[in-house]
Amino acid sequence: MSTTEQKLQELKTRLLEIGDLNHINALLGWDQSTYMPAGGAEARGRQSALMAQMAQEKFIDKEIGNLLDDLQSYEESLPYDSDDASLIRVTRREYERALKIPPEFIGELNEHAAAAYQAWAEARPANDFAKVRPGLEKTLDLSRKLAEYFPGYEHIADPLIDFADVGMKASSVRTLFASLRDQLVPIVRAITSQPAADNSVLHKHYPEADQLAFGAEVVKQLGYDFNRGRIDKTHHPFMTKFSLGDVRITTRVKEDDFGDCLFSNMHEAGHAMYEQGIDMSYEGMPLGGGTSAGVHESQSRLWENIVGRSHGFWEYMYPSLQAKFPEQLNGVSLSAFYAAINKVEKSLIRTDADEVTYNLHVMLRFDFEVQLLEGSLSIRDLPEAWHERFEHDFGIVPPNDSDGVLQDVHWYAGVIGGSFQGYTLGNILSAQFYNSALKAHPEITNEIAQGKFSTLHGWLRENIYRHGSKFTAPEIVERASGSALTIEPYIDYLKTKYGALYTL
Ligand code: ZN
Repeated sequence: MSTTEQKLQELKTRLLEIGDLNHINALLGWDQSTYMPAGGAEARGRQSALMAQMAQEKFIDKEIGNLLDDLQSYEESLPYDSDDASLIRVTRREYERALKIPPEFIGELNEHAAAAYQAWAEARPANDFAKVRPGLEKTLDLSRKLAEYFPGYEHIADPLIDFADVGMKASSVRTLFASLRDQLVPIVRAITSQPAADNSVLHKHYPEADQLAFGAEVVKQLGYDFNRGRIDKTHHPFMTKFSLGDVRITTRVKEDDFGDCLFSNMHEAGHAMYEQGIDMSYEGMPLGGGTSAGVHESQSRLWENIVGRSHGFWEYMYPSLQAKFPEQLNGVSLSAFYAAINKVEKSLIRTDADEVTYNLHVMLRFDFEVQLLEGSLSIRDLPEAWHERFEHDFGIVPPNDSDGVLQDVHWYAGVIGGSFQGYTLGNILSAQFYNSALKAHPEITNEIAQGKFSTLHGWLRENIYRHGSKFTAPEIVERASGSALTIEPYIDYLKTKYGALYTL
């Protein structure tokens, strides 16, 4: 008869194997999105599906269930926040969820996702929605099927929302978004009725190599660890991880748009610093990743916007930027540059959107996901619905589908449902967490203006990063900020910052 210690070890050994299979699959995905030639797509889809299916089969092995049962009394003897109790608790939650999804379905979903991604990668530059439509219809069918493995929901989108942001459902997100929208729309209206800021300085020619070098230097200073990471180019920047010692980010460069590469670097580095900050003893375990889409996005947005688009940050960084790009920036004052990178305008592309209008882009997508899943909107009518809603919310009509319904990869690389609400939850939480860090360390504001980011980084690591998935999002929000999620700090942040740039 084996001891509790042996059983825990047996569980960890099995979980590490599953973690390794998932990380190998992530490596296949990284390669597909960076260096793989298009000809590799079909085989890559098959290979990726195989890895996902193998991981799923190993995870739902009934021996894992037996070990979890045998370890229950040990778990109950420990404090809730102990590493062992948390590992057993989080593994059980994921195990019970995984048991409901057949491995063949996971394989089918992954294989389909790889094909759908390839179709999207070709369709977007060609403005060819017809090319992705059959694949997208299948994605919607598979998404509904996935939700239906979790009966008892209030809305069919709920299980998919819960995967990404535990505890949230369509109705709670709708309520939250409605109150945020009520606050945002008057701010957007006030700003966009004034003369637009001049950001032409960002659209001079900025050579790719210099942008890449500057972007890498900035994220290094923020605290992204290149001994455990690297940056490569892709179409649609993302962060991925193959172990806690290898957390990568990707970027893209537009030579006539200075902000694109730099701010997406800071964004992805924010995600990556979260993963790099996780307790190393969680390597390969279900605890060894960020806890939810919303909390993850709070970290990318905190570094990208609250730090990266702040006046203090550029008081420190602007002289280095001018030295790197003297022809483009000599004679451009710090305040002119600061106004340019914080220009608010109604624009077409979510990832390029300013902080104020960004959430309107998210709300549109969230509503479409919900409508598609419930069947009140069809894939066939999606491009037209996009144009209409966009005109209603932004007062502009997308000139094509490339900059409309084809602009985001999400629906073409997985499932429809649960993909977008995390972005706005992240914006809300970024301000809530930053406020808490400031309360603990009021000197952070001055430090950022001197290029010192370690106090802020340290607070985030201590209160959020190191815990990985030990706590759910509502738990970590409560622990780190002392209250449940609230929109007030975010609204205050926007009003203060943009009140100084515009008349509100
Ligand atoms: Zn992100």
